Amino acid sequence: MFSKPFLLQPRTVKETGNRKTVLDEAYTLFPDRDALLLKDFPVRVSVGDPLYKQSSGLVLSPVNGIASLEHTEEGSKIRIVQDGNFIGSKPWIPKVLKKEEALEPMDRLGLVSLDFPEHSLLSYFKSRQKTSLIILAPFTRNQDVDYLPELRKNLECHARFLEVLKSLFPEAQIRDYISGLKSPVKNYAYPWGIPEYFLSQTEKLPFSKIKEILYLGPETLYNLYRALFADFPFIEREIALYFLGKNGGLRKADSTVRIRNGQSLKFLFEEYGPKYSNFTLNSFYEKNPVRDIKKGFYWDIRQNYSLVFLTKHDSGRREFPCVECGECSYNCPTQANPMALVSSFGNFNSSLCMECGICTFLCPSTISLRTRIRTWKEANHGF
Ligand code: SF4
Ligand code: SF4
Repeated sequence: MFSKPFLLQPRTVKETGNRKTVLDEAYTLFPDRDALLLKDFPVRVSVGDPLYKQSSGLVLSPVNGIASLEHTEEGSKIRIVQDGNFIGSKPWIPKVLKKEEALEPMDRLGLVSLDFPEHSLLSYFKSRQKTSLIILAPFTRNQDVDYLPELRKNLECHARFLEVLKSLFPEAQIRDYISGLKSPVKNYAYPWGIPEYFLSQTEKLPFSKIKEILYLGPETLYNLYRALFADFPFIEREIALYFLGKNGGLRKADSTVRIRNGQSLKFLFEEYGPKYSNFTLNSFYEKNPVRDIKKGFYWDIRQNYSLVFLTKHDSGRREFPCVECGECSYNCPTQANPMALVSSFGNFNSSLCMECGICTFLCPSTISLRTRIRTWKEANHGF
C-alpha cells in the first residue's frame, strides 16, 4: 500500500467572513475557443451574472464591475474592472428541496463536478440517471483542502440533500462517508481522492465502473450546499499554498487562501516574491510547467486548486536512462507495472493505471512515465 512519505495533510477550510478589499487589477477570464458568449461587451456585470458557456458549464462574473472583451493571438479574454465590494459567505439555511429545486441551481450558479472538472455538475448528474450506486466520498480528487469539517457542521443540510438523492435515484444504494460510513483510511494519502482508486479499494470494482456511478467528493458537495442552502454561486475556491525550499524541503501553509475566478495572484507574488521566484500549479504528480512570478497569473477555479512556490527553476531537468531500480512499479498503488514501458520486465497493465503520476514523481532518472503511459494508451486504445 501507499507509504507514509507522500502524506500531505489537507488543511481545514474555515469561513473567514466578508472581504472588503477592492483589488486594483482587473479580473481576467479566458473562455475556451468554442465558448458561447452570453453578453454584449462592454457591459456592467454583477456577481453571479452569466458571462459565457463552455463544455464545463456556465462561467459567472466573480465580481461587480465593468466587463470588456479583448482578442489576442492566444484567444479571447474577458477583463472585469471591479467597482464594488465582494459578497462574502452567507450562512447555510437547511430546507426541504423538491427534485427540480435541487437541480435548477446547478447550472444557474455555475457548479462543476470538482471530481470530474471537465463536466458541469448538472451534466454529470444527467449522465448518471441510471446509476445503481452513489458514493458521497470523504476525499476530493485533489484533496489539498479538507471540507469534511464544514460539511459535518451542517449535517441538517446534508440530510436534506440525501432526501433529494433518494427521490432522484430511488433504486440506487448510497454510500455516505460524510455522515454515516467511516473513512476506509484514518488519514488521507494520495491517491485515495482519485475516484477510480477509491472505488476499487472500497467496492472492489474495476476502474471502468466509475462511468456508471454517481461520485461526489466533499469539495463538490461543499459548493453544491453553498448553492442550494445559501444561493451562493461557484465563483471562488479555497486553495492550498506550498513552498519548496532550496534544499528540496516542502512546506504547506497553515491556512488556505480563498481566490475568486480570474483573480490576479499579484497580492501573493508581492508577499512571497522576495523569497520565491517561480511557481507551479496543483500537485507535483501532475508535472505542470514552472512559471516566473514576474509574468503574473490569473486564477482559474475550474483547473487550479493549489499553488506551489519554488526557489529555483528546474525546467532544465532532463531524462536519464532507466537504471531498473524498480521504484516506479514497486510504488504503483495498483500494480500496473509502469517499469515495463521502459524495460523488458513484464507487461504494462493499462486497465490498472489511473494516471496518478506517482511513478513519474519517484523516478530517479526523471523519466516521464506519464508521457509514455499516454502514448501507450493512445497507440493501443486510441484514448
Ligand atoms: S502506472 Fe504510474 S500513473 Fe499509472 S497507476 Fe501506477 S503509479 Fe499511477
Ligand atoms: S523508477 Fe525510473 S529508473 Fe527506476 S525502474 Fe522505473 S523508470 Fe527505471
